[in-house]
Amino acid sequence: MVSAAASGGQWNIRRCRGHHLRAMMACIYSVPAPAEDAAGDRRLWHHGEGNYRPCFSSKETWEQLRSHHPRLNWTRVVWFQQGVPRFSFITWLAFLDRLATGARSKAWGCIQPCILCGEPDETRDHLFFACPYSFTVWIDLTGFLLGSRVSPDWTLTVTSLLSSRRKEIDTCLLKLAFQATIHSIWRERNNRRHQGDPLSPSQVVRYIDKTIRNRISSLRHRKPAFYGEMMQRWLSRPTPS
Ligand SMILES: [Zn+2]
Repeated sequence: MVSAAASGGQWNIRRCRGHHLRAMMACIYSVPAPAEDAAGDRRLWHHGEGNYRPCFSSKETWEQLRSHHPRLNWTRVVWFQQGVPRFSFITWLAFLDRLATGARSKAWGCIQPCILCGEPDETRDHLFFACPYSFTVWIDLTGFLLGSRVSPDWTLTVTSLLSSRRKEIDTCLLKLAFQATIHSIWRERNNRRHQGDPLSPSQVVRYIDKTIRNRISSLRHRKPAFYGEMMQRWLSRPTPS
C-alpha cells in the first residue's frame, strides 16, 4: 500500500501506481507539508460552501449528502406535527402510487379486482375514495367538515385538503381523518385478501373515530386549549343514532 511521511518539508509516497492513488498523490502534493514551527492542526467540519466550524452538525452533514429536489405541495398532507407515523407512511406510499394495488400487479399478469366492491380495476384512485365502500367511510367521517366539497375524487380531495381558507383545527382533523382512512381501508383490503372477517363501513368508521380521539388526547398536554377545541370540534361530528 501507500505510506506517507513528511520529511524536511516534502511528502514521500511510495509504491503509488493506480490512477486514483496518483490523483490523490497530486492532491496531497498541492498541500504544503506541515512546518515544524506552525500552529497545531485543528479538526473542522464542513458546514457548507466555504463554511468550516469546529462543531459537528448531523443536519448540515445530511443536507450536504442528500439529493435536493423541489418541495412537493402534497407533502403537507403527509408529514405534519399531529400525524401518526404509521398512517403517514401508508399515505406517502399512496401519494407515490406505490401500494401493491391490482393496477400494479396487472403488469405481472395477476388480475386483482377490488375486494371491497368487485370493481375490476383496483387502482389507487379507486380505493381512495371512488370505491363505494371507502367513500361511505370517508363521507361519514368528514362530511361535517367538508360539506359540499366532499368528493370521491383523489385529486379534488387532496386539493381541498391543501386549501388555506379553512381553520387550522379543521385542516388538522381532515389530514388526520384522511390518513387514518387510507390506513384502515388498506388494512381492511389486505385483511379480506387473507381471508379475515370482513368489517362493515360503519365498523371501520368507529375504529377511525376512536383512533382520532386517542390521538387528540395524546397531544392535549402540549397545547390544552388548542387540542381541547379540536376534540370539541371532532365530537360535534354527527353520528348515526
Ligand atoms: Zn371498490
